[in-house]
Amino acid sequence: MEKYDFLVVGAGLYGAVFSREVTDMGKKCLVIDKRHHIGGNLYCENINGINVHKYGPHIFHTDNKEIWDYVNKYVSFNHFIYSPIACHQGRFYNLPFNMNTFYQLWGIKTPKEAQNKINQEREPYRNITNPKNLEEQALKLVGQDIYLKLIKGYTEKQWGRPAKELPAFIIRRLPVRFNFDNNYFNHPYQGIPNGGYNLLIKRLFSGIEVRTNTNFFENRPFFENIAKQIVYTGKIDEFYNNQFGKLEYRSLRFETTEIDTNNFQGIAGINYTDTDVPFTRIIEHKHFEFGNQPTTVITKEYPNEFSLDKEPYYPINDDKNQQIFKRYKEYSEKNKKAIFGGRLAEYKYYDMHHIVHNALLKSKKNEFKNSSSGSNI
Ligand code: FAD
Repeated sequence: MEKYDFLVVGAGLYGAVFSREVTDMGKKCLVIDKRHHIGGNLYCENINGINVHKYGPHIFHTDNKEIWDYVNKYVSFNHFIYSPIACHQGRFYNLPFNMNTFYQLWGIKTPKEAQNKINQEREPYRNITNPKNLEEQALKLVGQDIYLKLIKGYTEKQWGRPAKELPAFIIRRLPVRFNFDNNYFNHPYQGIPNGGYNLLIKRLFSGIEVRTNTNFFENRPFFENIAKQIVYTGKIDEFYNNQFGKLEYRSLRFETTEIDTNNFQGIAGINYTDTDVPFTRIIEHKHFEFGNQPTTVITKEYPNEFSLDKEPYYPINDDKNQQIFKRYKEYSEKNKKAIFGGRLAEYKYYDMHHIVHNALLKSKKNEFKNSSSGSNI
């Protein structure tokens, strides 16, 4: 019955890296995915030559040279640097908060002036030692002007609740830069795969048996016996029939349109921070790959309440959900046959570089159970 060494449930990045590695060690894998495509949330749909990031924009970034070298073995990366701008009441501001932003907000030109102004903005909130909610946290970190113009509306739309009702820990830090650097990420390695994410995934899966449109739960007894071990990258609560409760997520809705112009907004991402604009950002996909196609494709991103018919995007990091997850995690650690990895099985927001790191680590363990899957990156 056990025809394979591993059944990998999920053809996302975790499943791709894990199965690549164990295949290269001589193991036999079967990978299944319930979607019609491979790549999980990295999947891009090609619309008239433009790679459209179907599940939200993805920029690969890392400070770990080994991870960077690993992905570069499969595909080269372009020199894209994510430097989104924010739009508030029709005016543009650079992100992350830096000297460009301070100039746009207050006409300030030197780092010293900016430092003084930020201190002045924070001053009324310096007595807040233990912020009770996100609003207090943000005011303490950057003061009222930045909070009202660039944080409040965006965050409230994203989480669907007033900032006063959101926990302070959502915003741990709000870095302010006293230079004119608009690079959103601090990592030294960044880019988009030349040829798109689908190429990276296709090459990782090269020579590996992959079945799409195949849901593990539709034939569970069969799949459970087809391999010596299962690598499960789907929702952990679903794996255990929700026996300890359902884990909650925040979802997103994407409205994608092809427009008959070669350049709609001149940049990959613009965040809309006004409360009365219902979407949080507009992505213009061609800019990730410096495309010069005659038309363009844009996506408006709307935050959305999660329900079972929607994609689970962001885990909710509150006590209630963490307690539920803890029970699943403890229970799953006793399971000798299954390995749980990736963003859904570990109920954690992971960037792609974390996923590559964790999957590499896991695949290299001879003794799979009880190994660490936490990332130090
Ligand atoms: P997934 O990609 O979700 O793959 C899991 C797969 O399992 C899916 O294909 C699913 O269909 C399949 N599956 C689930 N259940 C079953 C089942 N029962 N049977 C068969 N198949 C099943 N990271 C970055 O580094 N940079 C970014 O810019 C970035 N942007 C992001 C933007 C958004 C909006 C979001 C939500 C995430 C972003 N990320 C980004 C994170 C990135 O998407 C994840 O790190 C990555 O997708 C996780 O890979 P994974 O394999 O764990 O999960």
